[in-house]
This record gives sequence, structure tokens and C-alpha cells, in this order.
Amino acid sequence: MIWIDKNLHIKPIDTHIDPYRPVENAIITHAHADHAKPGHKNILATKETIEIMKIRYGENCASNFQELNLNQKIEIGDVSVTFYPAGHILGSVQVLAEFKGHKINFTGDYKTTRDLTCVNFEPIRCHTLVTEATFGLPVFQHPDEKKEIQKLIKSLLLFPERPHLVGVYALGKAQRVINLLRLEGYDKNIFIHGSLEKLCDYYDKNHIKLGDLTKVNLSNKNQYNGQIILAPPSAIKNVWARKFEDPIICQASGWMAVKQRAKQSLVELPLILSDHADWSELTKYIKFTNAEKVYVTHGREEAIIHWCRINNIDATPLSLSGRDDEEQ
Ligand SMILES: [Zn+2]
Ligand SMILES: [Zn+2]
Repeated sequence: MIWIDKNLHIKPIDTHIDPYRPVENAIITHAHADHAKPGHKNILATKETIEIMKIRYGENCASNFQELNLNQKIEIGDVSVTFYPAGHILGSVQVLAEFKGHKINFTGDYKTTRDLTCVNFEPIRCHTLVTEATFGLPVFQHPDEKKEIQKLIKSLLLFPERPHLVGVYALGKAQRVINLLRLEGYDKNIFIHGSLEKLCDYYDKNHIKLGDLTKVNLSNKNQYNGQIILAPPSAIKNVWARKFEDPIICQASGWMAVKQRAKQSLVELPLILSDHADWSELTKYIKFTNAEKVYVTHGREEAIIHWCRINNIDATPLSLSGRDDEEQ
């Protein structure tokens, strides 16, 4: 550890990675709410992360913002910092910090599989790896995204009269589901809940083509028969969703692999679409990095820690507070 501590504080430059409380200097890996908090003094992040934070929290959500491009090194005191793509959502990065020849990589949230709504993951070597482990159990092996999205398209053919209400988180998941539908040739209008509009517009402005999207207007309910409607899971759970006639409730999330969770949320059509690494991706990447020391930040820590130890890699859980595995 020596020059970082368990709160992901880079001591020589008094800078925190994804701090939960307001700090003087923060590096933000991506704009999901459990990583990007308002109220810091100085923020270093990608252009996209900064712009999304401003959309969500307002222009003044930090005092100063500094942009750093992917694969570009910046010297801060005696520490150099480089961002590498994390493949998680638009703007997401792994943060590589180097001090006196020792490299620490903070992965943030990541996945190594293809995603056309963000820059794809890039593997990098380091001495110390600080990794997430949201799906850090061997039972988690994410299925093929194409097959999952085809389930939705097939269901529309089987039930052409029923609205298909799909629960998606507003940042990342919504745009990925739309993108996957377009890749499968689904070119009809897709309806979105009002709370998804700004971020869909932002992705569109960043050349991630989402096709025709229309905000839901419940004055004419019949127009939704046989259509896809995307909404945050919270809206699908409340009265808003009851206004649709006989809808099929779907949800797109890595957690849909857990049947119990799908059942609890009354999801009829679970779509297993994750933006986090599964067990194989996590273990493969830990090996690739050549790290001799691994810290596990959030998620299912024990299995990964155990796996590291039997592979002769020194590993320690960090049990960071406030990391919300629901945002995925
Ligand atoms: Zn995230
Ligand atoms: Zn996270």
C-alpha cells in the first residue's frame, strides 16, 4: 500500500479516486452516482464524465474541472496519472498512477466485452491492482448480449399487442439496450421515460446513434401496444407503469442472472445485460496485469480474494462504503 490508503487516497498528491465525501482533489472514474459525487473542489476526469456530471448535478457541482484525454499522461507533483478506457459506460476510465516507478491501476467499474456505446476496454499491466468485483462469484458468467436482446425482439413477435416495458438505468444501460436493438435491425421508434431524455440526447451528440426516440405521453395509451418503452426500474415499480395496458415487464441488468432478484422485482422477461466484468473477465484480467498485490473495492470480495491467494497473489478486501451495486 505505502503511498495509497484504503479510502483510495493517493497520499503524495492528496488526491482521492471516486471519493464518497467532498474532498479537495478528486479523480472520477465515471459518472455513475456511486462514484461521482457533487461538492468536490477540484475534479480530474474525462470530458464526457465532466459533462455528464454537469448534466446530472448542475454546472457548479465542483469548483474546478480539469479534463484528461484517454492514453494521455499528466504529471501531478511526483505522481503521473494516465487514463485508460474501462469499457463500462461513456467516459469511463481506469486510472493508472505511477510513483517512483511503482504502478497502481484503479479499475473503477469495467467490462472487457465489446460495447459500441463507449470506448472499448484496454488491458494494462501494473504492480498493484485495485479492482471492482461486483460479479465476483464463479456463478456469474454473463451470456452473449446478442442472445439476450433477441429475447426481447422475439417476445415482441409473440405478443404483438402488449407494450414491453424495459427497466434500465438512465446512464449507460438505457443507451446500450437501444444500441443493441439497433444492431439487431430494430429500426422502429423506441419510447423513453422522460428521465432518460437528457442522457440519450447527450450520447446522441457524442455520435452514438440511437435512432428515433420519443418521450412517453400517456394521453394515448393504445399507441404503445407492441412497442418498446424504456424506463428506470423505479418508474416501472410505481403507478406510472400501471397506466400501460397489460404490459410485459422486462429488466436489463447483470443481476437478472439471479432468478430470485427477477422474481422479487416482478420481472417477466429478464435480460441479462451487464456492464461489469463477470468472474472469467475479473480473474483473466487480474492474471493479465501481472499485479503482485490486489485490492478489491466493492462487490463480492471473498471469492476473488480466495482465488488470488490460491494463485499466489497477495489480496486484500477494501470494503468501501457507499458503493451501490444497484446502479449497474
Ligand atoms: Zn458504474
Ligand atoms: Zn460502481
